[in-house]
Amino acid sequence: MLFFSTINIYIKNKYGYVLDEVMISNALDSVGHIADATDYNLFLYFLFLTIIPSIILFSIKLQKVVFVKKILLLFYIAITVLILFLISPKYVANFSINALSPSNYICASCRYYTRFKSAQKVTKNRQSLTNFYKFNYEDKINDKEDELKIVVVMGESLRSDHLQVFGYDRQTTPNLAKINNLLKFRSQSFYTITTPAVTDLLSHRLNSEFQDIPSEKSLIDLMKNLGFKTHWYSMQSSKQFGTEMLNIMAMEADNYLFRDRIKIDFPNKENLYDADLLPYFSKAMQDKSKNFIFLHSFGSHTHHFERFPAEFKKYGDQCGKNPKICTAEQIKNGFDNTVFYTDYFLNEIIKTIDKSNAILFYISDHGSFLGEGGIFANGGGDRAEDVAHNVPMFIYFSEKLQKNKYYNSKLMKAKKNQDKILNPNYFFDSILDCSLIKSDLISKRKFSACSDI
Ligand SMILES: [Zn+2]
Repeated sequence: MLFFSTINIYIKNKYGYVLDEVMISNALDSVGHIADATDYNLFLYFLFLTIIPSIILFSIKLQKVVFVKKILLLFYIAITVLILFLISPKYVANFSINALSPSNYICASCRYYTRFKSAQKVTKNRQSLTNFYKFNYEDKINDKEDELKIVVVMGESLRSDHLQVFGYDRQTTPNLAKINNLLKFRSQSFYTITTPAVTDLLSHRLNSEFQDIPSEKSLIDLMKNLGFKTHWYSMQSSKQFGTEMLNIMAMEADNYLFRDRIKIDFPNKENLYDADLLPYFSKAMQDKSKNFIFLHSFGSHTHHFERFPAEFKKYGDQCGKNPKICTAEQIKNGFDNTVFYTDYFLNEIIKTIDKSNAILFYISDHGSFLGEGGIFANGGGDRAEDVAHNVPMFIYFSEKLQKNKYYNSKLMKAKKNQDKILNPNYFFDSILDCSLIKSDLISKRKFSACSDI
């Protein structure tokens, strides 16, 4: 335990990382590069934290403890933990389990093992798309200091008819309304729930069986094979029932963090919001090489009032946890506040990428019912023309990339397609085609918003 705790403390001091399941997975993947990741200080750590304490421990003579003493000791420990838990359950859950050694790496190892096992079972036969089709990224930027960044933001429960930029009568997207060359499309989701919707949006399939697992790996794996560093940062939990496919796709990325893990980085925050993904996003954007960054937002998911900080409460009287006792106006207000916050979130991303060679792709996974047909959330309806399916899709070339003639010609082509309704299949192909990634798969299908449709 001293040995592993020493490694744990060394990593925390050198890199600032908490040893969690992602770090364990990274460490196991890079055992071969151990010399690059450590320095001579590690020897000093071992000397003072493992070797000397071990010698001292071994020299201590153990004494037999009488049974009553043992029971008293256990009782004392149990009472201490109980008091801590009563004072602050969050402290016990977050701090002692996730931040303190050795419980943090023991728990993380268990979590890693469980996740690895279940992912292995499901993904055993999943293969890379590159095994079936040819893909080729032609570098038309030629700037080793600032290579292409592809940013994909997955929205949540957002419906087009509540966006000012799509003609809604409230000013819900004042920032997006001001952005030049923001390409706006209407899309229609195939699903009304998150996991199958996101799985399909990140897969090349055109039509799928409800919630089945694609036999090929996702876009994340494809981008990794094309030489991009891949990141998956999610404001959604990795522990919800039925979301395993999201974990599996996240694990295809070089780095992945879900809400549960991100929470550890914000110990003083009561609630997390989408903009808490921005520090991770900005860090990835600072990398000079090719990067693919996937951000999974919590957007407009119920309960709406929990999705944004107080200063974004633009429309006063809003609905609480039980929509059934709310007026239509209160429900609308709460939802519109989430749209107003999403406008801020996307605008922050756009401001960050404008200085780099980057493209942003946004789509909402599905829409949401706001009381239509007595339904107050997503799910619960697969009527094709419903509000639960009408979702916005955006493409944005950064100011810097707009000056590149190859990307500018893609932008011009996409502009012509703006009034068309693009089904979700367009999302996958557009990400590749607009980024100048050529493929026999894409050229055959004509499903790109950046080509003649
Ligand atoms: Zn969703």
